[in-house]
Order: sequence, then structure tokens, then C-alpha cells
Amino acid sequence: MKIGILGAGQLGRMLALAGLPLGFEFIFLDPAADACAAALGDHLRADYADPAALARFCAHAKLVTYEFENVPVSIAERIAGGLPLYPGIPALRTSQDRLAEKQMFTQLGIDVPLYHRVDSRAELSAAAAHTGLPAVLKTRRMGYDGKGQIVLHDEHALDQAWTQLGGHPLILEAFVPFKRELSCLAVRSRDDSVRFYPVVENQHLDGILRVSRPRLDDPLQAKAQDYSTRVLKRLDYVGVLAVEFFDLGDRLLANEIAPRVHNSGHWSIEGAVCSQFENHLRAISGLPLGETRSREPSAMINCIGRMPTLSQIAALPHTHLHDYGKPAKPLRKLGHVTVLAEDDETLEARIKTIQALTPTEPARKQD
Ligand code: AMP
Repeated sequence: MKIGILGAGQLGRMLALAGLPLGFEFIFLDPAADACAAALGDHLRADYADPAALARFCAHAKLVTYEFENVPVSIAERIAGGLPLYPGIPALRTSQDRLAEKQMFTQLGIDVPLYHRVDSRAELSAAAAHTGLPAVLKTRRMGYDGKGQIVLHDEHALDQAWTQLGGHPLILEAFVPFKRELSCLAVRSRDDSVRFYPVVENQHLDGILRVSRPRLDDPLQAKAQDYSTRVLKRLDYVGVLAVEFFDLGDRLLANEIAPRVHNSGHWSIEGAVCSQFENHLRAISGLPLGETRSREPSAMINCIGRMPTLSQIAALPHTHLHDYGKPAKPLRKLGHVTVLAEDDETLEARIKTIQALTPTEPARKQD
């Protein structure tokens, strides 16, 4: 069976790497010349809205999924008119708008940070009075990896933030003094069976994920699963879903959803019995889901802006390099390293060794 994937970046690549051994074939639609999944299937290099390319894509695919949530809804609707598309349109539409996400969480009884929609300078002041400061001003659409958001520390910052982001539909959120950032990865099949990976603790720098640690037996596992189940049901969801949370100690606040395989689930390639990539393919193609259990303590370290050498990583025990084959660019996700260990202490020591070989780029640059 040939599966169509919108987008041919690293997530499409890792889906294909999981699916080829199962006998699946892949066709990608992506305008990028250097799309890193291209070698693993047919690559239609065209704009998503190109009618001829879209027709060819749909003629070859038996079902369609996507690796990024900014697929234009009108294109997804056109595809879904003729082919199964998973996750479906409600998930895609909701995940594209931070306001719609927050409204959904609230309707489902899931706590979120205080927030206020902002469409004018006057509304920005009203919003700041509602949330208090510090607060985070975010574009409602197209933000990722910390792009399109500004932390406002005091009243003086409002004018400048408005100059930078005004004109886009915005949302202001109270700045949350979280203890931890967690994500819950769930997978739901076409016949409504659901499995959860262990919640993952995520460490960001400048809005970009750096390290993910699945937490076995975390006290918030049950709550995160309960909240994620509500979202899966509301969206009639099929595939892997990531829900990102802020852990305040006494409360779990939902931040956002990603209707796709997620960077914080990459550890599962070696760390879980069945990876998020294989489980996404199983879910959307109607197969039984695989086990989401962790094999042993593990972690994932992102390679941002530069890669360690293969020989450096290959020399380390229980450590695996994933090079996405992308040209290096400042602050670009070029690959990741997964590491496993028999206990947490050994794991932390191994993470430190890997981080020394993959120096992080802290400063946000203009791009
Ligand atoms: P997002 O694009 O919403 O996932 O934001 C990127 C990162 O910015 C998050 O992973 C957090 O580290 C930080 N962040 C976003 N929103 C807030 C908030 N309301 N309070 C504190 N930190 C935040």
C-alpha cells in the first residue's frame, strides 16, 4: 500500500523508515528541493496548492497523512473528499489556531494558562490587565519552535511587541512559572483502541526542544492520559497525537496539541517496544496498535545547528545517531541522538557526554 505524506522533512523521513519494513511505500508532496524524506519514496516537488501535483499525489496514494500541522485546510479538505485522511480535518483545523486550541481545552474541562485574544493595540492592554505580567504574546497561527512569540515583562514592552506582531491575529497568555514541561503522546486506531507512551519531560532553550526524557511511572501520567483522551474523542482522532503541558506541581495546564508524530516521541524508536512512527502508520492503516511501553530508561538529545560525527556517537554505549541528512543552518534541527541506560544515573551521565559532543546554539538569530 502506498501512503501519501504531505511534507517530506524529517518526520516524513522517519515515518518512511518505520514503514518500509512493513511493506508500505510512500509518496511525498513537498515544494522543498532538499526535502530529506525524498530518497525514501516518490517526491512530488510542487506547491501544496498545485492542482496537477495534488491530482497525481491523490492518484497514487491509498491514504494520506501529514507531517506538519500547517497544511492548508482547503487542501486537506480536497484530499479528504476522495481519500482517507488521518488525522482528520477537525484536528488539523484546531491545531492551526492557538485560540481554537485553548477554547477546546476549556470546553473539555482541561486547565489552560489565563489567556485573552488580541486583535488591536487596545485589546493588548486589556489582555495584559486580564493575564497580568509577565505574559507571552503569540501569533495564533504559524508559530513553531518559539517563533512568533514575545515575552512581555512590563508595560513598556507592549508598544514594541505590538510593532513586531500587530496585524496578525494574536493571543496573550499569562507567563506560567512551570516546574516542568511535559508532553503526552497518544495513539488512537480507526477502531478506537488507544495507547499512551510514558509522559515525556521536555527541556527547551529559546523555544526549541533540546532534550526529552520519558518518565516511567510519573505521578501525572494518569491525568495527562485523561486529558489526552478527552481531546482524542472530541476530535475523533486517528493516528499519533501529542499534547503539550505545563506542570505547575499542583496543576497540569495544557499548552497546545500537535496532530502528528512529535519531536518529543523520537526516543521511542529505540526506547519503546513500538515507535511512535510505526504506531502512527499502524493506526492510520487499520492495523492493531503496537506496545507503547518503554524498554528501559532512555532520552533524546536534539542536534541543533550542527551534528556530532558518526564516529563520536558510535563509540558511545547504547547510543544511536539519527542524521536527517539536512544541510546545516543555524538553529535548524539536523538530527537527534537516542540513548538508553539500565538506570537513571547512568542515563544522566550519558546525556552529558552526548551534549558535550552536540554543543547547543543558544542565541536566537534572525532568519
Ligand atoms: P509553544 O510554541 O507554545 O510551544 O511555546 C514554545 C515554548 O515557549 C514552550 O515550550 C515554553 O517553553 C515557552 N512558553 C510558551 N508559552 C508559555 C507560557 N504561557 N508561559 C511560560 N512559558 C511559555
